[in-house]
Amino acid sequence: MDCVGLKSQYDEIAGEIKAALDRVLTSGWFILGQELASFEEEFAEYIGTQYAIGLNSGSDALLLAVKALGIGPGDEVLTVAHTYISSVDSIVRNGATPVFVDIDPETFCIDPAQIEDKITEKTKAILPVHLYGQPADMTPIMNIAKRHNLFVIEDACQAHGAKYKGEKVGGIGDIACFSFYPVKNLGAYGDGGMVVTNDDELAEKVKMLRNYGQPEKHRHVFVGVNSRLDEMQSAILSIKLKYLDPWNQSRHQVADWYNEYLNGSGLVTPVEKDYAEHVYHLYVVRCKNRDTVQQKLTKCGIHTQIHYPVPVHKQPAYQNLGFDLSLPATEQACREILSLPIHPCLTHDDVRAVADAIVTT
Ligand SMILES: *Cc1c(COP(=O)(O)O)cnc(C)c1O
Repeated sequence: MDCVGLKSQYDEIAGEIKAALDRVLTSGWFILGQELASFEEEFAEYIGTQYAIGLNSGSDALLLAVKALGIGPGDEVLTVAHTYISSVDSIVRNGATPVFVDIDPETFCIDPAQIEDKITEKTKAILPVHLYGQPADMTPIMNIAKRHNLFVIEDACQAHGAKYKGEKVGGIGDIACFSFYPVKNLGAYGDGGMVVTNDDELAEKVKMLRNYGQPEKHRHVFVGVNSRLDEMQSAILSIKLKYLDPWNQSRHQVADWYNEYLNGSGLVTPVEKDYAEHVYHLYVVRCKNRDTVQQKLTKCGIHTQIHYPVPVHKQPAYQNLGFDLSLPATEQACREILSLPIHPCLTHDDVRAVADAIVTT
């Protein structure tokens, strides 16, 4: 069974990709050109924001989003410990302090009911993560942010095309970040990322930051970085963006099949809230005997993963922040979660085989 799906996906679009790469290669222009400009325009239109700025990675998108908001030493940002590490790195790399809020055990996203307890006079922003492709509960988050005058930075790195109450995630907060890491719902053939926003000033700032802090050649108004989505990746992503909605629908179909076949298996299948259009970047179940289930699947040649086995506050790099911190829902999730294979090319028979391997014995 193809548990990742990138090869089958390439087979579908190989002709288009080769033509696009040939176009870029023969153009002789590789950085900050027309391919990037077009893709930025298309992606902004897809999400429904005014601006999209292409960067090297989702990690850089988060780093520069936090920086563009002027968040730094002495500031606190509320986020989750149940996420990929770079959601939190972006805060620390700007000299600010992450403050962890526990998750809602049903959605695996930040629990809005626990946010206000953690707000202090140093709090500058909330950074919710739309984990696994399910939107965080944005209405209460936006209301709390308004009440306390905080920025909202959406980590949408796993949620290209997901909707909250009919609105695409990424266009709800002040600024949002996407990753085009190859296995993401919209993936490049290498690294890539994007910041989206409706704010003119933030967009300008991120544009300068990604290009050595320069508004024009040889004038550097602040210290920036080199973080640009190159022309080849932009051309590739432009093609793949056209397929994102159908690919997300296929992921949803796979999830529906799993839900059906795992019904009664004793595993807790993912919850899709009424407010959510989940895009199933990952299909994550809970099981009390997770390690046994995983070993059984491995023996059948089915590759599963754990996203993520160790919460951020228990990582050696962050021990100063909270080895003694208690986040019960986060810690329980880490013990019970298992990501089953999911991608747009997974077949009905594949899903059946995974479910059979779980249910039998
Ligand atoms: C993938 C991911 C990132 C980082 O993106 P990269 O492009 O790999 O740097 C950040 N946050 C979340 C939630 C992610 O899934």
